[in-house]
Amino acid sequence: MLDKRNFYINGEWLSPSKSNDFEVINPSNEESFAAISLGYKEDTDKAVKAAKNAFIKWKETSKEERIALLKKLLIIYKKRFNEMTEAISMEMGAPIDWSSSVQTASGQSHLEDFILRLKDFNFEEQFDSKSNNHISYEPIGVCGLITPWNWPINQIALKVVPALAAGCTMILKPSEIAPISAMLFAEMIDEAGFPSGVFNLVNGDGAGVGTHMSGHPDIDMVSFTGSTRAGKLISKNAANTIKRVCLELGGKGGNIVFADSYPNAVKEGIRNVMSNSGQSCDAPTRMLVEKSIYERAVKEAAEEAKLIKVDLASKKGNHIGPVVSKAQYDKIINLINSGIDEGATLAAGGPELPNNLNKGYFIKPTIFTNVTNDMQIAKKEIFGPVLSIIPFETEEEAIKITNDTEYGLGNYLQTEDKEKAKRVAKKLRSGCVYINGNSADSGTPFGGYRQSGNGREGGIWGLEEYLEVKTITGWN
Ligand code: NAD
Repeated sequence: MLDKRNFYINGEWLSPSKSNDFEVINPSNEESFAAISLGYKEDTDKAVKAAKNAFIKWKETSKEERIALLKKLLIIYKKRFNEMTEAISMEMGAPIDWSSSVQTASGQSHLEDFILRLKDFNFEEQFDSKSNNHISYEPIGVCGLITPWNWPINQIALKVVPALAAGCTMILKPSEIAPISAMLFAEMIDEAGFPSGVFNLVNGDGAGVGTHMSGHPDIDMVSFTGSTRAGKLISKNAANTIKRVCLELGGKGGNIVFADSYPNAVKEGIRNVMSNSGQSCDAPTRMLVEKSIYERAVKEAAEEAKLIKVDLASKKGNHIGPVVSKAQYDKIINLINSGIDEGATLAAGGPELPNNLNKGYFIKPTIFTNVTNDMQIAKKEIFGPVLSIIPFETEEEAIKITNDTEYGLGNYLQTEDKEKAKRVAKKLRSGCVYINGNSADSGTPFGGYRQSGNGREGGIWGLEEYLEVKTITGWN
């Protein structure tokens, strides 16, 4: 059992103000493998004080000094890459190869990209050539960073790295369900030699440390990734201090498969939903299929889902692992049962454990067909390996169904007709639209419309979230 009870505050690993142990569970075998502490207000206050003191000097550092430290961090990240892969795989159940090539790799890629963006970013500029006004970009201050378990280091890198790059100081509260990768990242920051108090880590749950942070008068900004439910609570609690609140929330993406889509479109759509065991905010969990190819698509989808293996996270290979926790498992199984009760057709998967496994939070890749957009399985973010297939007749109807959700994070469309692809992409109300399986480049902005949030992470947009903009007149 790993002892991970201390918090990283002001450059030291300190014991919590009072003990409050919490077990971290390996979802492949339901056994606890580490103990952390859930912090109290005293712990949050101590970390905020350290970050507030450190901000005085850190905000005055040059871009070059910050780049040098980030480059050191990148070297250490690469050196300890395999430890990160192991940590993520154990804490949230990502199969080891996926954990390495996608989850851990995402942290490295964000580090590399933010170093490049920072090099090119101008913190000082003249307003225009005829004006004596000057524009200054300044770090916003002390940041509270709250992250989820599903892409643990991806979300952490998308917040911590731009905050460091901008000259902010911070308190990270990772998910209590998957905190080990975050603690390893804290060790790397320590090893890189960032000044004490610039980065702090306090573990805790939403009702405790998360709430202390969102309401804290000395925290200038909260950046949150997680559920829409928690995003609403954070916004309300933050309102009294008018802090900046950047939210990256849930999704219920549509994937429009037109009759003229390329041959593998359905199969790739299935793989996309099921990867990470369906636990991705931008997973295309509603597949909309044009009526003329509906029967063929349903057959292909069910066949592909049955080919996807489910197995232990520690095994090598391209199977999917368990879902993260008992609570998630129960929620997903209830939603699968609600789909059956509401009259959707179960074409693959279902609520039983896969045959090869008798413990762990494993769920078979599940496909529902003949789904209507008002069913619970089409409306709720299930966050498991479950797909709903919905037929449509016209382009307008496909757009209407896709946009008929309270979310707006990632939508997908498949067609060989380039003009139609652009026309439809412009009409979909979401922060990202992926045409024909093309992925987003490193440094492009990621975020949501509507109840998927208000922030944009990645690239210069991600950096700007941590900056204030100041106008100074009479500069020249
Ligand atoms: P969650 O909202 O339960 O928890 C996320 C984090 O918020 C955790 O650290 C948790 O302790 C904390 N938290 C919970 N309640 C809080 C409160 N009232 N105040 C402050 N902090 C609180 O979400 P989760 O189950 O960890 O993650 C899954 C969710 O995250 C899904 O909805 C998914 O779509 C979303 N997500 C969104 C993005 C994105 O970029 N839009 C990326 C990844 C995940």
